[in-house]
Amino acid sequence: MKKKNVTLFLANPRGFCAGVVRAIKIVEEALLKFGKPVYVRHDIVHNHHVVSRLKTMGAIFVEELSAIPDTSQPVIFSAHGVSQAVVNEAKKRNFLIIDATCPLVTKVHKEAERWVKHNTFLLFIGHKSHPEAVGTTGRIPQHLVHIIENVQDARNFSPPPHTKNLAYVTQTTLSLNDCAHIIQTLKSRFPHIQGPQTSDICYATTNRQQAVISIAPQVNTMLVIGAPHSSNSLRLVELSQSHGCPNTFLVQDTSELKTHMFPPETQAIGLTASASAPEHLVSEIQQHLSLWFQLSLSHVTTASENIVFPLPKSLRPSLPTSP
Ligand code: SF4
Repeated sequence: MKKKNVTLFLANPRGFCAGVVRAIKIVEEALLKFGKPVYVRHDIVHNHHVVSRLKTMGAIFVEELSAIPDTSQPVIFSAHGVSQAVVNEAKKRNFLIIDATCPLVTKVHKEAERWVKHNTFLLFIGHKSHPEAVGTTGRIPQHLVHIIENVQDARNFSPPPHTKNLAYVTQTTLSLNDCAHIIQTLKSRFPHIQGPQTSDICYATTNRQQAVISIAPQVNTMLVIGAPHSSNSLRLVELSQSHGCPNTFLVQDTSELKTHMFPPETQAIGLTASASAPEHLVSEIQQHLSLWFQLSLSHVTTASENIVFPLPKSLRPSLPTSP
């Protein structure tokens, strides 16, 4: 039977960001340098394909340091960052710590610590249970920070008595629109609140969201490759749905592709990948779709990226010494 002609809009940028590339490289280099196993606290990035591959190479993933019996091998902190209590525990047990926290998350840690040093009560805009929120808010005394998840929280928040100064920082992977509304609400209630110019949402989140927003109104179905526990994947799905493509699906790989995702009137499909989804999944999904449709590709490029984050010093190749 003749396949239907369908345009496949490929989002660009999509997939791995500089923080994810660095975090994965850190695990690979640590395995080369220190041998098996290396321990990784929490999934290095939120993608089970990435995690499974590193497991086969010799990485052991744990949720808490207490699950690591052996302190002779390094422990790597995931790209999402950790609280001060985790750092302290690792130091107390004399682990060799290798920090794969994304430098853009570390920047937010530093901002948060600086505000609190300046006698300022801090609002963290983000999702309570996300490891980035736990890591950042766990860097400062708990009585000096409050988490704001949505506009309703921003409307309801009352500063503790005797609070003189208020500031905010944000999670790096929020929806640009939602975050802007929360900040607007806070600024209208507390005109002197301080914070970054717009938000701490990172370049990769911003660029992937803008690419999806530009494709969504043009397609019958949007596929977002990512994981259900990945904040940036979920935000891409929500944005696509709210910007013209209600028929948007989060898929982890080809096994989740189903024919009902593509209504009979389908003429165009959008495809993107979250910041932690490897590019091979994009090619596999594209190949799978070409079994059902005669695809013509259209690349939608809304930004170009050339950011590279260096590895931690302990993993950089040592320079040869002069004779
Ligand atoms: Fe860093 Fe942004 Fe990538 Fe998160 S999404 S790892 S903050 S670059």
